[in-house]
Amino acid sequence: MNKNVAIIGAGFSGAVIAHQLAKAGYRVEVFEARAHVAGNCYSERDQETGVMVHKYGPHIFHTDNEKVWEFINRFGEFKSYVNRVKAITNNQVYTLPINLLTINQFFGKTLRPAEAQAFLAEQGDKTIENPVTFEDQALRFVGRGLYEAFFKTYTIKQWGFDPTQLPASILKRLPVRFNYDDNYFSHKFQGMPKDGYTPLVENMLDTEGITLHLNTPFDPARKAEYAHVFYSGPIDAWFGYKEGRLPYRTLDFKELRADGDYQGNAVINYCDNAQPYTRITEHKHFAPWEQHEKTICYFEYSRACEPEDTPYYPIRMADDKVQLEKYLKLANEEPNVTFVGRLGTYRYLDMDVTIGEALDVADKFLGTADGQAKM
Ligand code: UDP
Repeated sequence: MNKNVAIIGAGFSGAVIAHQLAKAGYRVEVFEARAHVAGNCYSERDQETGVMVHKYGPHIFHTDNEKVWEFINRFGEFKSYVNRVKAITNNQVYTLPINLLTINQFFGKTLRPAEAQAFLAEQGDKTIENPVTFEDQALRFVGRGLYEAFFKTYTIKQWGFDPTQLPASILKRLPVRFNYDDNYFSHKFQGMPKDGYTPLVENMLDTEGITLHLNTPFDPARKAEYAHVFYSGPIDAWFGYKEGRLPYRTLDFKELRADGDYQGNAVINYCDNAQPYTRITEHKHFAPWEQHEKTICYFEYSRACEPEDTPYYPIRMADDKVQLEKYLKLANEEPNVTFVGRLGTYRYLDMDVTIGEALDVADKFLGTADGQAKM
């Protein structure tokens, strides 16, 4: 039996599957086009300042999935970290996600939870029964005032489209709270890897049976050499873009180095048009257990992804899925290849979902999901 598998991409999807299959006795070759592992989660300690930098933008680990949390903790130590995001709009600083403080500050009120809930229900547009677009979702649940101050312009800067064209699912990522909890996430397990994300992935790949090839794009024509291929690259690239290029947003980061503390928080969003960037990330605040005299900030700019750029966010429009459907059908019909992860399935995935799905894909392949041996 051929026990050779190829895994394309050394981000979380590829590394998790590689690890699980190698443990089960497969010979796994991992092909990574970039010079490093960990995909867009890649983090690196800056030589000059000692600050751990999230090179492709902020990543905060959060999950409700105990299996994922237990799994990821095997590969490195996590420190408690709660992401508390601030938002600047109309020259005022607020807390996100929208919570009782945001509501009270924004409307100049002193509402208690039930009062705020009733107040926001009045603000919401109840004629929108089934919100499909981002704008409908916002108008329905927070009303025009909060929508225009916090979401509309940020979303146009981030996605390059009007929120009337984007799906409600993007906004559903964010909670609205009627208490003073300003934890950006609602998940049970939250934290930051003490030594960054890169060692987590390195440790997964540091398993007998895995060979890692960096700087090595994979030619789909080679798939016949392997019993199976797990592909976490862009789905359209695998098929030679024959249905056209799926659209992505890419990010540019302008770096600022300074002494001391630049903004006093890890993430501040800029929700209006006063600034062209969407947010500023000050990396050292992601590691409050470390002391650094100097600081590094990333000013984050979003734009359409050109062929030579790094893809970040898949752009799924509210009403246009024809091209994607064609690729998904092709992927479904492609023998001996499993498409995984953010790029392989063209979905806006958080790290924990990516890892959970990769564990499931490995289980299914190994036939352990139902306790049956597959091969
Ligand atoms: N969003 C917004 N204003 C904000 C924060 C988020 O309009 O201050 C919208 C925006 O469309 C964004 C989406 O909510 O793309 C999801 O936000 P999240 O913070 O989860 O984005 P990520 O950190 O994944 O870029």
